[in-house]
Amino acid sequence: MVTARSVEANLAALHARIERASLRAGRDPASVKLVAVSKTFPAEAVIAAYSAGQREFGENWIQEAGQKVRAVAAAGCDAAWHLIGHLQTNKVRLAIGLFATIHSVDSLHLATALNDRLNTPYPVLVEINVVGEASKTGLPFDTAESTVEAIRGLPNLNVRGLMTVPPLLSDPEDARPVFRRLADLARRLELPELSMGMSNDFEVAIEEGATIVRVGTAIFGHRG
Ligand SMILES: *Cc1c(COP(=O)(O)O)cnc(C)c1O
Repeated sequence: MVTARSVEANLAALHARIERASLRAGRDPASVKLVAVSKTFPAEAVIAAYSAGQREFGENWIQEAGQKVRAVAAAGCDAAWHLIGHLQTNKVRLAIGLFATIHSVDSLHLATALNDRLNTPYPVLVEINVVGEASKTGLPFDTAESTVEAIRGLPNLNVRGLMTVPPLLSDPEDARPVFRRLADLARRLELPELSMGMSNDFEVAIEEGATIVRVGTAIFGHRG
């Protein structure tokens, strides 16, 4: 069970680890933003994290997020929400209404659907499938550069950076080459934001240049 006290303690421990990893990499800890991934956890858990100072939250699914976003707002919390899961084009309008930013733009088709629904530049990240896992969403790495450029040409999207979810690995060191390839691609494209690193591997991601880490389990506990 998540208690407000455990969420607060977990966040404090996480901030200390983010700071140590940043300093180890010669980086300013303030250059790493923490998105607290609250999927499957109730609004109360988000409110507890908010009370401990956390402002940015990540959700994977529109339907689950809708109720939670409303409940958290009704409690007087001014949270900012990030969509980090795959988005279907028929849910684009709902997504724009709920989320401040979307990390999981994974096709030109979806980007175009978003662009058509917007009338002012909306911040997004483009998701890349670095390793080419068939089970994963994200642009194939080998052709990503030209697709990202096409997405950048859409006037109502502000492409801020790249996002990836590496394969599930027991040793976080094994994710390092994946993070490094994403960072190299972002550098070539001159994109400032890198959303990479989860509970298991965020320290390695920070060492490889992550500017946004998406952490759930280390804050809220294991999902049931
Ligand atoms: C669930 C999820 C996270 C958080 O994972 P944890 O291992 O719980 O920290 C981060 N990013 C994405 C895309 C997720 O689906």
